[in-house]
Amino acid sequence: MRTLVVDHPLVAHKLTVLRDVQTDSPTFRRLADELVTLLAYEATRDVRVTDVTVQTPLAPAHGVRLARPAPLVVPILRAGLGMLDGMTRLLPTAEVGFLGMIRDEGTLTAQTYATRLPEDLSGRQCYVVDPMLATGGTLAAAIELLFERGADDVTALCLLAAPEGLALLDKTFGEPARPVRVVTAALDERLNENGYIVPGLGDAGDRLYGVV
Ligand code: URA
Repeated sequence: MRTLVVDHPLVAHKLTVLRDVQTDSPTFRRLADELVTLLAYEATRDVRVTDVTVQTPLAPAHGVRLARPAPLVVPILRAGLGMLDGMTRLLPTAEVGFLGMIRDEGTLTAQTYATRLPEDLSGRQCYVVDPMLATGGTLAAAIELLFERGADDVTALCLLAAPEGLALLDKTFGEPARPVRVVTAALDERLNENGYIVPGLGDAGDRLYGVV
């Protein structure tokens, strides 16, 4: 499994404001959206393209277009929704599937309550968006489901990652090696006893949408 921690001053600046407990929900939503766009730029480095030729006002020019089948973007509800627009802004032809998953706060295991995905993902590159890679249980279950449906490769975009979550993904998808990549803005210190990333930014869903 490959991991990329995006090292860029704009990423670090936006993440710092997201971490700040004083940042209100409207600002948090806007900055999360901007941050995803920066992460998406790196995360789509291997997106498949096909060669095309277009006619400029002066001459034919060789270039590329995003290949078919279109990439699939999969936000994990609820907090992943806050990353969807930033992702589709960069990949406007992508299709979008949805996965509703909730973490049982007692056992810290993931439970799926809604699935809206194509049955057949053969040949598809998939981009899962979930802000917090904490224990890794939710993301591992989501990625496993995409592979079961035939996905070619899966890239996970997370605002923050914990070493424990990366280790679980590595264990799950590293041997035998499956094509999984994680792109994140920072690798934090650890999880606390409640499974929250430290120092982290708190509950990403609550910070985005308020406590419901
Ligand atoms: N989910 C969150 O929203 N925050 C964490 O720190 C861990 C899981």
